[in-house]
Amino acid sequence: MLEKVLIANRGEIALRILRACKELGIRTVAVYSKADRDLMHVRLADEAVCIGPAPSTDSYLNIPAIISAAEVTDADAIHPGYGFLAENADFAESVERSGFIFIGPRADTIRLMGNKVSAIEAMKAAGVPTVPGSNGPVGDDQDAALMMAEEIGYPVIIKAAAGGGGRGMRVVEDRQQLLNAVTLTRSEAKNAFGDATVYMEKFLQKPRHVEIQVLSDGAGHAIHLGDRDCSLQRRHQKVVEEAPAPNIPAHLKEEVAQRCVNACQEINYRGAGTFEFLYEDERFYFIEMNTRVQVEHPVTEMITGVDIVKEQLRIAGGEGLTIKQEDVHFQGHAIEVRVNAEDPATFVPSPGKITYFHAPGGNGVRVDSHVYGGYTVPPFYDSLIGKLITWGESRDVAFERMRIALEEIVVEGIKTNVALHRDKIFRDPAFKEGGVDIHHLEKKLGNH
Ligand code: ADP
Repeated sequence: MLEKVLIANRGEIALRILRACKELGIRTVAVYSKADRDLMHVRLADEAVCIGPAPSTDSYLNIPAIISAAEVTDADAIHPGYGFLAENADFAESVERSGFIFIGPRADTIRLMGNKVSAIEAMKAAGVPTVPGSNGPVGDDQDAALMMAEEIGYPVIIKAAAGGGGRGMRVVEDRQQLLNAVTLTRSEAKNAFGDATVYMEKFLQKPRHVEIQVLSDGAGHAIHLGDRDCSLQRRHQKVVEEAPAPNIPAHLKEEVAQRCVNACQEINYRGAGTFEFLYEDERFYFIEMNTRVQVEHPVTEMITGVDIVKEQLRIAGGEGLTIKQEDVHFQGHAIEVRVNAEDPATFVPSPGKITYFHAPGGNGVRVDSHVYGGYTVPPFYDSLIGKLITWGESRDVAFERMRIALEEIVVEGIKTNVALHRDKIFRDPAFKEGGVDIHHLEKKLGNH
């Protein structure tokens, strides 16, 4: 088992990882930027090391500083959380070269999945269904690009191979726009991700976003923990997530989950991971794999009773998987809302001091948050200040509990999107029904 873990992240996920380590009796090292001295997990960790100034490029993205912190504290493993360096293959490689365990897949797996073109290729080869598309990068040959789009059929979407966070994508409605869109997306991709490679996919008109959670020990043993629906999105970013995905025939879910398990075995995947799919007209289409713990992992934990972060720690510690597929039982329904420090109407970030904070509670309510009354949300990082998760024996019960939790929560001093959840999303009849598509929220918000 691991003895001491360095948590290379901040905010709610850093606290989440700290809690899992404590449960397993693993000592913890928090690393933090100068803007983050007051983070809750920094107070609670066994040791804490300041790794640099506020901007994340100088701190949470500073590989040498993080590795030095692991050296001086004599940690034996590093947990990257999500975001920052979590899917940086060079980081994973540096960590292992320096003699520490990287809590995640091997660097070559991260590299394979970090490039969406190679990820799609690998998944296709492993029998996972993918979106009809260019089957590789779109090259310089303009006629070939035009022909490809014709073959796929408009509308198509041009996507950056190295893209992430909902950026580097452009929908093309017809032939006239295609070449210009390719050029634009290419230069955007080069600027944002340092890689101009783009590829083409059929743009699905009304898909849902459905994903499969997997755990795999890196030695050929893999299981899945079912599916999540993350279709409520704004600008390709998730706003609400739930498990299981409502109104999808069980046999279709079972089949796609089994294919994900097979793919994990094929590539000898190590750790927790998520296969993301678009789902339309009873078909699944793989879009990408995330090789880390996800923001929305708690909804899966609530319906399976499996602690995903603890499993990550156990796999990294060489204990393998402690659960077999037949031990995974799904019970009830869970919903998660992301609470962001932002204006609920304009979505402009709203950092600042939280003068008063009251967390909701009661049966089936879970709050994953690092904030407290008197805590100041710094302006340098993403605006997620916490997640509310509710569980119920049915979707209706989980839904009702979320409505109540959203009425109970109080965050004063800064603006949050709680009102958006409470007054719009959780009063929306179509969402209540279940199974809305990825455009639903933006249509509702009127910016479509
Ligand atoms: P990122 O890595 O930036 O999150 P993804 O490939 O996961 O990018 O896509 C993010 C979102 O963009 C999806 O959840 C979906 O809403 C939309 N999207 C991506 N590809 C397609 C497609 N082929 N058709 C329709 N929507 C798409």
